[in-house]
Amino acid sequence: MISRIDLRGSLPGDLRSVLPRAELDVEAALEKVRPICEDVRHRGAAAVREHTRNFDGVELDAVRVPVRAVHEALATLDPVLRDALEEAIRRTRLVHRDQRRTDVTTRVVPGGTVTERWVPVRRVGLYVPGGRAVYPSSVIMNVVPAQEAGVESLAVTSPAQAEFGGRPHPSILAACALLGVEEVYAAGGAQAVAMFAHGTEECPRADLVTGPGNVYVAAAKRLLKGVIGIDSEAGPTEIAVLADGTADPVHVAADLISQAEHDVLAAAVLVTDSLALAEAVETELKAQVARTRHTERITEALAGRQSGIVLVDDMEDGLAVVDAYAAEHLEIHTAGARELAARVRNAGAIFIGPYAPVSLGDYLAGSNHVLPTGGCACHSSGLSVQSFLRGIHVVEYDEAALAEATPRVVTLAEAEDLPAHGAALKARFGWEIPSAEGD
Ligand code: NAD
Repeated sequence: MISRIDLRGSLPGDLRSVLPRAELDVEAALEKVRPICEDVRHRGAAAVREHTRNFDGVELDAVRVPVRAVHEALATLDPVLRDALEEAIRRTRLVHRDQRRTDVTTRVVPGGTVTERWVPVRRVGLYVPGGRAVYPSSVIMNVVPAQEAGVESLAVTSPAQAEFGGRPHPSILAACALLGVEEVYAAGGAQAVAMFAHGTEECPRADLVTGPGNVYVAAAKRLLKGVIGIDSEAGPTEIAVLADGTADPVHVAADLISQAEHDVLAAAVLVTDSLALAEAVETELKAQVARTRHTERITEALAGRQSGIVLVDDMEDGLAVVDAYAAEHLEIHTAGARELAARVRNAGAIFIGPYAPVSLGDYLAGSNHVLPTGGCACHSSGLSVQSFLRGIHVVEYDEAALAEATPRVVTLAEAEDLPAHGAALKARFGWEIPSAEGD
């Protein structure tokens, strides 16, 4: 069901090349999404509706969901689900509120300051996936940090669902209503990203689009980056578990399965120095997969080349492997898990010990679940308040401070053969280079 990669003996120099990873062909998907995005640019809402008909099998009169429908979805929401969503919002808000930034002023020299002013993006488009599964939790993970950052205009989009009259799933609409978001669109895939990037008659263009999605969403974000800002490419989900002989194979198998459940392209990777644990997890996987609801999807994800059990000599090599892999989610089930976690450099989020499974992080830990995949965790972070802010440097120097800086600016400008730069300063002092303070 799941392959083994035996790296005992010695680790290869180019570790990444031997580790399991999905062949997510974003480049190939780019060719598919390019005409869709162009079409939306030229024909606006009519193109969004046409591609929704083609890919989601839904004929829409309007892409915008009526505000009334958003509120109705909340009114008819199962109270138990409402309670769970409200608690998820509360915890996520607690964590993200603490991420807010304050402006910092640095006094560089007497009379010269630089302030970093944090300003929220004005309008954002938030993508909530809805192809294979529906993700009201992703509404929370997108909306809460944007709200905490102070974003003024928020729009959510999620694929139209044939069985719900062409609207996004009611739980998604209800989550929007709980968060006070009334601008919701029934569009998915590349056409939704293009709608935010170019704007349509129904949807004003946004400055930034965030949120996870499948390979077409990732490709559209890559293609339109620049026309619109994007967060990281958060594609098919990944879990890596770093475990030693102390780990419980029942927990490890359950957690690998929990992420494989997302998508046939989802990745589940176990890194261990214990052959006994590897064998026990293989046995558990067989038993648990047979008992779960999405057996077929999970079996395909676990058997795919993106999943595997990696055997290493010890936890030092285990750390090297998980750093090279740079998982979206990394669980650590070892003796001294917290100390090991502190040494990990590359991961979207780290879950320590047996009582912090990824499923908790997907919904209720308070952390964000929109995280970088495909190895991007070595250079990118998950969604946070920071994703919706820009730091603007505000420079203020008085006359004396500028005079003091002028000789060195002139020297540097001459060294770069840009004398007009120096001249711009000298013009303020009668074209003489002022003598440095104290001369
Ligand atoms: P989705 O909303 O991302 O994609 C559905 C859309 O894809 C459809 O509306 C359709 O327009 C488009 N599409 C489908 N087939 C197409 C084709 N052949 N050509 C062009 N467009 C096409 O929903 P999904 O497919 O269920 O994928 C959701 C993904 O999001 C999963 O891989 C899941 O693992 C991932 N996810 C990631 C995170 C994260 O933080 N990394 C969080 C939640 C979900």
